[in-house]
Amino acid sequence: MYLVLEVININCKTTAFITTFENYSVLLTRLHIGHTRLTHSYLLSGDHLLECGTCQCPLTVKHILVDCVDLKDVRNKHFVASSIKDLFDNIEAHKIIDFIKETRFYKQL
Ligand SMILES: [Zn+2]
Repeated sequence: MYLVLEVININCKTTAFITTFENYSVLLTRLHIGHTRLTHSYLLSGDHLLECGTCQCPLTVKHILVDCVDLKDVRNKHFVASSIKDLFDNIEAHKIIDFIKETRFYKQL
């Protein structure tokens, strides 16, 4: 009985790991192509492009990942990148995920 429960526990952990990995993979793909629910929902809703509340400029993936001054301190904890190309060419994926998880945008992307 203990062995069965242990196998079930391992399977649950494995499933949770795979689900988390898939979610991160989807998020990284969205960030890489620059299309997320948050930044492109206006296309479906007919609303205006969202603006960054701090910078008053269009809320884009590039703005969140590279440009926004409001996120600079959090960003610098995880990486420094001069451009989107620099970010995706040179920064490890887990650092990008960790940064996004620490921002208010994680659940919206
Ligand atoms: Zn901003």
